[in-house]
Amino acid sequence: MLIEKYDLEVTTPPCEPGAERFSGVARLVTDISEVLPYLNATLRGAVYNAAVPALTWKKGGHNVAFHPYQIAVSNVADRDAAIKEVDGLIKLVNRTWERRDEIEPDHEVHRRPGPLDLYKLLPQTNCKECGQPTCYTFALKLAAGHVKLSDCPVIQDPEYAGQWAQLKGMVAEDIPAI
Ligand code: SF4
Repeated sequence: MLIEKYDLEVTTPPCEPGAERFSGVARLVTDISEVLPYLNATLRGAVYNAAVPALTWKKGGHNVAFHPYQIAVSNVADRDAAIKEVDGLIKLVNRTWERRDEIEPDHEVHRRPGPLDLYKLLPQTNCKECGQPTCYTFALKLAAGHVKLSDCPVIQDPEYAGQWAQLKGMVAEDIPAI
């Protein structure tokens, strides 16, 4: 097991009425730098910077950052959710490390798709079925991790199967089973 113990810190950002979110930080005694290329190979939408080193990732609406001695998750709804998210990320790192012989490490930097990249693949009907006023607004929120691709019912129509598959490969909606 790579991470056997860690210190957890849960904080709230400076007061923002109506928009309070939580952050969780796991402070590690083990350097996890070596696992980052394996996470880069398996986490869709991750952005790896080998020079730092650091790997950032959007999981749902959360922002996740892996550093050599720290794992942080922000934009979480409450304290319990922050604790649960951190615990899940620790398990993800340990599972990935245990299975590293089966994974080809990826040392490349991958650009996170921007709103325009996502918009180009959406149906562009502005039908509002997702609850957003336009497809571009949906793309902005999708890029930021504030909505899920599955929130657009139209893209799931067989007519858009190709674009759906491409978009699925570009946005991370959950921790993959590794
Ligand atoms: S449901 Fe899909 S197609 Fe309709 S506005 Fe939202 S993103 Fe665009």
